[in-house]
Parts: sequence; C-alpha cells; structure tokens
Amino acid sequence: SMSKTDQIIEQTEKYGARNYHPLPIVISEAEGVWVHDPEGNRYMDMLSAYSAVNQGHRHPKIIRALKDQAERVTLTSRAFHNDQLGPWYEKITRLTNKEMALPMNTGAEAVETAFKTARRWAYDVKGIPDNQAEIIACEGNFHGRTMTAVSLSSEKEYQHGFGPLLPGIKLIPYGDLEALKNAITPNTAAFLIEPIQGEAGVVIPPEGFLKAAYDVCKENNVLFIADEIQAGLGRSGKMFASDWEEIEPDMYVLGKALGGGVFPISCVCANENVLGVFNPGSHGSTFGGNPLACAVSIAALEVIENENLSDHSLELGDYFVSKLREIDNPIIKEVRGRGLFIGVELHEAARKYCEALKNEGLLCKETHENVIRFAPPLVITREEVDWALERIKKVLS
Ligand code: PLP
Repeated sequence: SMSKTDQIIEQTEKYGARNYHPLPIVISEAEGVWVHDPEGNRYMDMLSAYSAVNQGHRHPKIIRALKDQAERVTLTSRAFHNDQLGPWYEKITRLTNKEMALPMNTGAEAVETAFKTARRWAYDVKGIPDNQAEIIACEGNFHGRTMTAVSLSSEKEYQHGFGPLLPGIKLIPYGDLEALKNAITPNTAAFLIEPIQGEAGVVIPPEGFLKAAYDVCKENNVLFIADEIQAGLGRSGKMFASDWEEIEPDMYVLGKALGGGVFPISCVCANENVLGVFNPGSHGSTFGGNPLACAVSIAALEVIENENLSDHSLELGDYFVSKLREIDNPIIKEVRGRGLFIGVELHEAARKYCEALKNEGLLCKETHENVIRFAPPLVITREEVDWALERIKKVLS
C-alpha cells in the first residue's frame, strides 16, 4: 500500500494548481532546525521557508505569544483599535529607527505598499506631474507575485500571460551605479533594491554600491527603498542587510521572519515625510495590523534581539562558508554569502544535488537553476552546521 507521504503528494498534485514544483517530501512536524515527515524521517531545514523561520520552527516564545493572544482576540479589522498594534508600532519603529510603520500581511503586499507610497510621495511631496512617476528597480529582482511585483521583474516567466503590466518602471543591472545615475530623471520617485538578492541566487552587490546608490538617491531627491523581506532580520549576519554599508534606507520593506514563521505579517517603515502621505481611505487591509499577527511579531522580534541571532548568523555563516570553500570540486563555480545566507553556484543544474541532499537528510531548494541556497534557521548550532557539512561534502565531492 501507499505510504502516507505518497498519498499526500498524490492528493496535493490532483487538486492543487500547479504553480509549484516541490521536492517530494511531506513535512508533518517541525522544531528548531529539524522537520519530520509522516514516516518519522528527520531532515535538517536548510531553507527556513525562504527565511521566514529565522527564529527556528515553532520557537516556544513565539508559540506562547500566539496561544496567549488567540485566547483573547484575533481580529478586529482597522475599523477599531486593538491593544497589540500600538506596542507593535513602537517595537518595529524603534528597531528600524523610523517614525512610522504600516502593517500588511504578505511580502508582496508590503512591496505593493512601498510602491504606492513612493508614487504618492512623488506627487504630493516631490511635485512630479500626475501619473508621471517612475520607479527604478534592478534586474534579477524578486519582489513577489502581485501585478506590481511581476511588473518589476526581469524574468519573462514571471510575466508571461499576465499583461498588461504596470507602466512607470525602469530596470538597471544590479550593482551598476552608472546605470542608476543614467536612469534617474526629474520624474524618478524611488529606487527599489534588495540589498542582497535572494531569489536571484544570494547575489551580493559590489562593495560600496549600496552606499553610493543611496548617496545618488539623496542628491536627486529619490527615495531609497530596501526590500529586506528575505535578507533582513538577522539573516545576513546583521539586523538589516543595509547595515553592511551603514545606510538607513528611506523605507524598509519587511516580511517573512517578521512573523517568526508562525503568522504572516509584513510592513513598510519610513519617516513621517514619506509614510505621512496616507490618509484614511487611501490604503488598507482587513487583516493588516491584526492583534494575533502583532503579538506574534513582537515575540518574533524579541527572539531575534534577545538571542543575538544576527551575531550568531554572522559567526556561523563565516564558518559555514569557509568550510564550503574547502570542498574541491570543479562543478562548484562560487561559494558566496553573508551570515547564514549562503549560495553555492554550480556549473550545472542544482536540482539533482538538492535531491541527493534530501536523501542525506538535508532540505535545500535550488534557486535560479544553478544555485543551492543554504539558509538554515538562525538558531542552528555549530554542531548542527558540522552535521550538515559532512553531508554536503559527501554530495558535492
Ligand atoms: N521580496 C523579497 C525580497 C522576497 O524574497 C519575497 C519572497 O520570497 C517577496 C518580496 C514576496 O514575499 P511573499 O511571498 O510573502 O509575498
């Protein structure tokens, strides 16, 4: 008879839209860096749900916050105040050093919010003529799957069949300062960038680019918007990947680990002169700022801070990368990373190595065909990194 895993995969494939191609594993339980399938096999999670579980699966403090809040009130809508949103505002604005925040639910919605903010700021504050605002983004970006996000993409596959796309977008090669300077016009509202590109294969910009790009934006009264949805909140070995060049973006876009992998919450954070463009009725979300998400998010942020997950990520990431670089195999093109945000680029397709790693008990997902991303929960221990390295060496040697 069929295994539980095979049954579930068959059911999933029968009834589900085919917009994903998962590895053939079913996860039915998880704790920390470990996940289990229904047959009781144990795997180490090296993806962390695209960095949404930086705090580890089911962190006890976050689960406690979830349960406590679920006993009180879960949803009020923004038609009324709730007693968790204020404390969450205070927490997130203190962390980002911004005056205001606007909560949404998913990353793509936060990007959408950033985009709308930039356009409104362009008209109301910068004085760009109506409907003329331009937003500059980077080739290879990933900002999500809404129409705005796919309109920003340089990936034809993400746009195929979804036109007409949004106008008012320009792309420059990632890390190309001259191209940024040339793309800016008097109608430029914002420059939107992932300070490390995750889905493109953990791509790190050339040293000094972020700072120089930020300065160019300042000179031209252009908003510098950092999409830190994947790279932020400790993943890169600093609280924000923008910290690598000591810049404070005009706007942070956050998501994923903001909810500790327990409950979806995303947001944008900026100062009053930017986020102040919204008035009642101009933007919103039924679930945005709900008390359950806020309570979970406060706990999720406390875990990152109290357990020094950024420093831990930096230290173990350096160790992990140095050990990966010792693997001597001509199929490896490059090992790169910041903190526990690591990409191993191969000269060939990575899928079959991800499948082999899965058979060794390690869950990874190829990104951009040729790259294996290693991004474990940041609570991983050195012993667990060694455990992973043994298996990675076996598969990649
Ligand atoms: N922005 C970045 C940098 C991301 O990595 C992602 C998700 O991978 C998103 C936006 C979209 O987030 P979501 O899938 O929650 O809509």
